[in-house]
Amino acid sequence: MFISYFFENGSPCNWDYSDGELAVDLLYDHEAGATNKAAGHFHFSVDNPERQPVRIRIKLATNIWNGQLGSPFEADLPSYYSEDGKTWQVFVWQQETNGDLVAEFGKLPFFYLARLEPYTEANLKQLCGDIKDHPLVTMSNIGTTLEDRSLEMIHVGTGEQRVLLRARAHPWEPGGNWVIDGLIREFIAQYETNPEKVKNIGFDIMPIANKDGVARGMTRFNLKGADLNRGFSRPRAELAAVAPENIALLEWLDQQQTAGTLPVLALDFHNDCNGGLLIPADDEARMEILADSLRRHTFSPETVISSPNKDGFAAGVHAQYGIAAATLEFNAKYINNIKQLPSATHWQQFGRDFLEVALEFISENS
Ligand SMILES: [Zn+2]
Repeated sequence: MFISYFFENGSPCNWDYSDGELAVDLLYDHEAGATNKAAGHFHFSVDNPERQPVRIRIKLATNIWNGQLGSPFEADLPSYYSEDGKTWQVFVWQQETNGDLVAEFGKLPFFYLARLEPYTEANLKQLCGDIKDHPLVTMSNIGTTLEDRSLEMIHVGTGEQRVLLRARAHPWEPGGNWVIDGLIREFIAQYETNPEKVKNIGFDIMPIANKDGVARGMTRFNLKGADLNRGFSRPRAELAAVAPENIALLEWLDQQQTAGTLPVLALDFHNDCNGGLLIPADDEARMEILADSLRRHTFSPETVISSPNKDGFAAGVHAQYGIAAATLEFNAKYINNIKQLPSATHWQQFGRDFLEVALEFISENS
């Protein structure tokens, strides 16, 4: 029995095998200058050449979020396994009273196990390769990460009303990437059959904000311990020292402001186990209209919450540029509105359906 995490998005862990049980200890990533720490992402492969039945145990690592103890695990949490790293099957863990997750695996000589269906830089390269020559698409690099990975901005559409989307501030949360994949492919398909319909809209998409964390299979923070959904109210020089990923986005927004091409709507995509739309407290009326449109066309959000987070992407972009902005959490446990376990396929469908929501938003705001 052997665990490997020596691949893109593989999560480092400590592990031990005895008496038919493979016990996995997740490693924390820590927030610099705070007590916060997070370990909830896992993605590793299991070699079991003798095809022995094996019980896999993911040991609970108690997290600290916003200074409070919390658990990334709960009852009936789904995860995914794959024999080839491409086609994933969902299963649901048993949770023991101590919080550990356990599941029985037998007879597979080799498989990957992941908290959610992975979306990595390789997936993004594939998407970019598929769309780069389309006349609707332009791509730019707006900066680099701490480890010098390029930060892409994908522009789709030529309309003057722009919608900014960001995904993957938190590495364990791939849902937004699958949404973006579905949206871009749908936008191109709609343009080819009905260009008139989409002529006024354009999307600016930062697909993987925390690229280093995604490559390294981390849970929440970047390599200097910064939370990329915090720090938007910090002085720029302070932020630049720890989060060039956010500086790149803010400088891009500055350029749009100067050019008079600021987006009218900005959404930051996340995963959690609640599926809420988190809106800045001083922009509730406009965001309720968005929430209503989302409910009519898609399976999210499940709740709308006025967010107390004054330091995150949505509050920051709203306060600094006046853009209508929100955080949209995709439920990584169970999609209550359609009574389905979450999957990449569901999130791609959300992305296809989201095009109508964006079109409604710009027509109501122009
Ligand atoms: Zn998040």
